[in-house]
Amino acid sequence: MSTMNTVGRPTTPNAVESKPATLTGGRGLLQNEHLIFESDGWGKTGVDLPEPKTDGSDLGDLVRRDPIGLPGLSEPETMRHYVRLSQKNHAIDLAIYPLGSCTMKHNPRLNEKMARLPGFSDIHPLQPVSTVQGALELMDTLAHWLTTLTGMPAVALSPKAGAHGELCGLMAIRAAHEASGEHEKRRKVLVPTSAHGTNPATAAFVGYTVVEVAQTEDGRVDVADLASKLGPDVAAIMVTNPNTCGLFERDILEISRLTHEAGAYFYCDGANFNAIVGRVRPGDLGVDAMHINLHKTFSTPHGGGGPGAGPVVLSEALAPFAPAPWVVSGDDGFRLVEFAEDEAEQAFGRLCAFQGQMGMYVRALSYMMSHGSDGLRQVAEDAVLNANYIKARLSDLMSAAFPEGPCMHEALFDDQWLKGTDITTLDFAKAMIDEGFHPMTMYFPLVVHGAMLIEPTETESKQELDRFIHAMRALAEAAKAGDVDRFKGAPFHAPLRRLDETRAARSPVLRWTAPEGSNIAAE
Ligand SMILES: *Cc1c(COP(=O)(O)O)cnc(C)c1O
Repeated sequence: MSTMNTVGRPTTPNAVESKPATLTGGRGLLQNEHLIFESDGWGKTGVDLPEPKTDGSDLGDLVRRDPIGLPGLSEPETMRHYVRLSQKNHAIDLAIYPLGSCTMKHNPRLNEKMARLPGFSDIHPLQPVSTVQGALELMDTLAHWLTTLTGMPAVALSPKAGAHGELCGLMAIRAAHEASGEHEKRRKVLVPTSAHGTNPATAAFVGYTVVEVAQTEDGRVDVADLASKLGPDVAAIMVTNPNTCGLFERDILEISRLTHEAGAYFYCDGANFNAIVGRVRPGDLGVDAMHINLHKTFSTPHGGGGPGAGPVVLSEALAPFAPAPWVVSGDDGFRLVEFAEDEAEQAFGRLCAFQGQMGMYVRALSYMMSHGSDGLRQVAEDAVLNANYIKARLSDLMSAAFPEGPCMHEALFDDQWLKGTDITTLDFAKAMIDEGFHPMTMYFPLVVHGAMLIEPTETESKQELDRFIHAMRALAEAAKAGDVDRFKGAPFHAPLRRLDETRAARSPVLRWTAPEGSNIAAE
């Protein structure tokens, strides 16, 4: 089949190595790009303004005398700099982004169009509420969709990421324990070993002691271990469902029953809601608080640390402790409950200035309404189907971490199958880059040795999945055939090869400094 040639495997095993490095650092038509500070355009400017007519500045002594230290570039130079940089980014608009636990799905352009409507994009959070009735109605409608889809009575919209939502949920739980006078004795939060790192980090940040709960052989919470750790000193449990092994927590009802029996709250990490949306309502499972990553389930863009949005749905018991603000409607339209007083007396305060990420609210609601409830259900079904297709097509060559039964939205492999090859998960991931594929999530969850976590999402067509599977199979076969160099040296075709990732993480250089002896001073 012609599509099977797309991987472009070199005919001899080491052919990749014999290619000379280029003289300029460019590759193909991709330019090597230096830091903008390293351009030689100091003193240049992209605009031609007339000399100011004033004689002297109002700043008096405060006028700057030294050069500002910003590089000067013409408009085309500026454009090229940023476009070249953008070409070095992998993007969901380029190809499959198989990162597990990240849910990188297509962001429909309709959402973008809606978010850019001037009535949403040009408003200011301090405008009188009478002039932003449409925006408040949109927030109210979004809250309605979120509470309906989750079967929960309340939602706090303002958290700005999944981790921020966790913070919101645990602060509401702490406020509830404070209100009932139990806070002083309930100092522990139970977290399973497979949890996303943000869970224990959040619990510790809120001042709790984190206690780990073991996992069973088949990748679920060990209920017996959980039961033995629950008690009057536990404030909450944090369980991800479907969990980070890509599996549904079969004993979720028992987990929630035991938790409530012990007087603790059930925090559910809902980052994987895309696997169950329209099929399962967390409220029916006894969840007390759950964040929803709009940038995962509801297709708003991941913003490189922001802006995301992580609204938190809350049970009857926790709803009074939700942070301000929230939208209420009455005869005279919509208004915001802004302060922790009167009707928001028990609110723990505010999580952030203003109302949260309006642009994300618009995008998420646009996604929900354009799919409808039936379409959202199909999102979950297709996400799960796609992951199982990958699992089924790769399991003969690679070792599935939990081979028994189907997975949810993620296919998880370990590195058993690489045993004896001298090739590691990292080497395999680097070789994927040479083949034009962004690597999957590696070494997470920590409970699986050499983990390779693949999440295709519902976005990918069968053709794209087949292309990915073909590349993975070709690489797996090369690994098994002992073609070690292909992996150890990879990536051969990326602009940069193996980086010193440890040093980059331990001593990151976050600020440019002018080279010794230069007369350029950066700010
Ligand atoms: C993505 C994710 C988070 C954190 O969400 P952010 O929006 O990145 O802060 C937490 N838990 C799980 C399981 C996740 O997948």
